[in-house]
Amino acid sequence: MFFELEQKTTDRNQLVDISDLVQETVSKSKVESGFVVVFVPHSTAGVTINENADPDVSFDLLSALSKLVPKDSKFRHAEGNSDAHLKSSLIGSSVMVLIEQNRLVLGTWQGIFFAEFDGPRTRQVLVSVFSKK
Ligand code: ZN
Repeated sequence: MFFELEQKTTDRNQLVDISDLVQETVSKSKVESGFVVVFVPHSTAGVTINENADPDVSFDLLSALSKLVPKDSKFRHAEGNSDAHLKSSLIGSSVMVLIEQNRLVLGTWQGIFFAEFDGPRTRQVLVSVFSKK
């Protein structure tokens, strides 16, 4: 069983901190010890874990990805969003985080980010919580 969360994005490329949203789901699940899987069912978006203390880290990540995969490259995919598809694969579509005492086990500076590469859109984030017992 999994929870379906909705995430609205406002920019074409954007990282949205969804740590609190995922923690809310973990809290609801009442799982004390286990892990959570966060999966993004989109081919032009993704999910990643990185620093959420300094917003410049998100800015730098998005800008580095755009240098790596420029939008105007000569891609074959006719939809015009090949850069978004490539960024999605580079970032990945799932993360797993351990749970202890019904809390996400994240490093002090870590957050879970929804990664939008072809926004703005309303997206889905699927969250499944697993118990050790
Ligand atoms: Zn496409």
